[in-house]
Amino acid sequence: MSLLVVGSVAFDSVKTPFGEVENALGGSATFFSASASYFTKVSLVAVIGSDFPEEHLTFLKSKGVNLEGLQRAEGKTFRWKGEYGYALNEARTLDTQLNVFQSFKPELPESYRSAEVVFLANIDPDLQYNVLEQVRRPKWVACDTMNYWIEGKRSSLLKILKKVDLLLINDGEARQLAGEANLVNAARNILSLGPKILIIKRGEYGALMFNGKSIFAVPAFPLEKIFDPTGAGDTFAGGVMGYLSKAKSFDDHHLRRAIVYGSVMASFNVEAFSLDRLRDLSQEEISARSRAFKELTHFEVS
Ligand code: AMP
Repeated sequence: MSLLVVGSVAFDSVKTPFGEVENALGGSATFFSASASYFTKVSLVAVIGSDFPEEHLTFLKSKGVNLEGLQRAEGKTFRWKGEYGYALNEARTLDTQLNVFQSFKPELPESYRSAEVVFLANIDPDLQYNVLEQVRRPKWVACDTMNYWIEGKRSSLLKILKKVDLLLINDGEARQLAGEANLVNAARNILSLGPKILIIKRGEYGALMFNGKSIFAVPAFPLEKIFDPTGAGDTFAGGVMGYLSKAKSFDDHHLRRAIVYGSVMASFNVEAFSLDRLRDLSQEEISARSRAFKELTHFEVS
């Protein structure tokens, strides 16, 4: 099924206890597209500034990402600066510069309007809404967001939540959105806002899926080396949505598998800075880690 994403394409400056990078390729839609490209073809909607180098576009094209809906505007590309402590679980945002996103008016190319699966990656909820309105008959819509928008654009976010099938957010965002500390109660509150399914990402503690009837849990893959968690959530979403689009099914069985693929893709991403680990992953590496994941979680009840 055709998969469309709108989100940020960015320059990230990131500091972790293990190193730092300045103005590296980042952005929610970038991580998402690179990750999902291992499963299906992705069409990207975003805006970049006149300072965006051709080599990054060449990389995305090499992953088969359709860039027809990527606008180039006069001005600077979106910039995000963040840092992580040893726990690596939550980024501390030091600076967000929306730049060309401030005046971005997405105009979807005709070929994008028939997309069946839509991922509204972390960006201004008004932009997410605008893009979704231009898609004729989306069959399955998923959405991500972050504290920046929950705080700054809550009513726009609540409007978009009424239109989504699946919301993917981290535990801190779930607590903030629901105004509730307990995650099970927070999930119930959030499901009453519109989404049919909620996936709560918990960094190194894995992910939880709620559908109102049952809860499914997966751990994060235990790694010896973690360098940079930036983009782990978007890479996770890319694995989830890429797999579902390829499987052409959104039932519970496929959703459970999709979460494992999301976790597998995120586990690769955190092994290097920026998108470096997503550049030349092989299908064999993805399959091997999926098998290792099965081994990790398999047990029998007598
Ligand atoms: P993640 O670590 O998966 O939550 O996402 C990190 C990515 O989100 C970085 O590459 C940033 O460029 C991007 N990002 C950070 N803040 C924002 C924001 N307010 N809107 C859109 N994208 C953002």
